[in-house]
Amino acid sequence: MNKNVQSYIMPTYGERNIEFKEGKGSYLLSTDNKKYLDFGSGIAVNSLGHCHPVLVKALKKQASRLWHTSNLYYSTQQEEYAKILCQNSFAEKVFFTNSGAEAIETGLKVIRSFHHHHKNFDKKNIITFDGAFHGRTFAAMSAQQNKKYSEMFEPLLSGFVKIPFNDFEIIKKTIDENTSAVMLEPIQGEGGIIPASLKFLEKIRKICDEAGVLFFLDEVQCGFGRSGKLFSYEWANFEPDVLATAKGIASGFPLGACLSTNEACVGMIKGTHGSTYGGNPLAISIGREVIKIILGNGFLTEVDKMARYFWNKLKETEGNYDEIIEIRGAGLLLGIKVKSNNIEINKLLTKNGLLCVPASDNVIRLAPPLIVTEFEIDEAIQIIKKTLNEKND
Ligand SMILES: *Cc1c(COP(=O)(O)O)cnc(C)c1O
Repeated sequence: MNKNVQSYIMPTYGERNIEFKEGKGSYLLSTDNKKYLDFGSGIAVNSLGHCHPVLVKALKKQASRLWHTSNLYYSTQQEEYAKILCQNSFAEKVFFTNSGAEAIETGLKVIRSFHHHHKNFDKKNIITFDGAFHGRTFAAMSAQQNKKYSEMFEPLLSGFVKIPFNDFEIIKKTIDENTSAVMLEPIQGEGGIIPASLKFLEKIRKICDEAGVLFFLDEVQCGFGRSGKLFSYEWANFEPDVLATAKGIASGFPLGACLSTNEACVGMIKGTHGSTYGGNPLAISIGREVIKIILGNGFLTEVDKMARYFWNKLKETEGNYDEIIEIRGAGLLLGIKVKSNNIEINKLLTKNGLLCVPASDNVIRLAPPLIVTEFEIDEAIQIIKKTLNEKND
């Protein structure tokens, strides 16, 4: 099967040989009727799995009522949803977007406008980290400074200073009177599933406060229950000023959000930002149901339980295979760093019916839906073992 004989799509994703026709829970069915266990979740997006009945019902109901009015008009549902996000996080204000990169862009504008408002005209630089991924727009590419994603698109935006991850001494030396913010993923995703240490995060908060610098978290991938808490920063003892989230927020419907304290977004006044679609009625109708379920009785406790179960099963497997160099990650965002080639192993896993997503640093990323069961985790472990055994033969 080769679907690329003649394509009218820009080939930025390369070869794509599988097509799905249906999804239910943690499983996908391809057009050639093969069943796959989906531990990629469309890159950590389908937080409640495929076609969750509550979401299907909500979308159908909204679809027959109202799709879009633009943000020129008031929306009670949007207000109520923003209130839920704020009441369950550090935030006091929300800006809705359609994607992660747009939520990142919004956060960067919050930062610049904050210092402009306070006439800190020297505070322009944002400290970012090796291995970071913030998206594909120009500002996101500029923030991550990763040649792999951006070399052919230069010049990028100025004002980003990149340093090693998880090294507080270097931050201490780097923060100066030109620093406007520190920006990071509490669990690096594309960079290879690398969690920030909780102490590191807490120390950054302190030094940001001392220097009048904002702390901006990219929880596009690690937020929305994936860590076992609504936002992963909640594992540590601090709160950020600004946070971008998306992926799992609406389990596959395009939606993102930039969350902020009142103080940080003081400069985001009338006319400074906008989005035609951001937070439109269809997206909000899904978002509201997703957060209701995630914050519902026992849901996150169960995510945490499944995450620990999966972690332990992977750790038991680790020692039996030369191919596995390290198990890493947190919550239901786990990674297997392999010895040979992660892309090749990912292909073999796919062939054996398990979908995962490669990440940098030779890692296979495991991001099952948050509704994953012990049974499905056992099935994934069996496929991983089988694949690595076949590879040894
Ligand atoms: C995926 C991702 C983004 C970009 O989100 P898009 O919806 O693809 O624009 C930004 N930051 C992180 C950490 C991500 O994983």
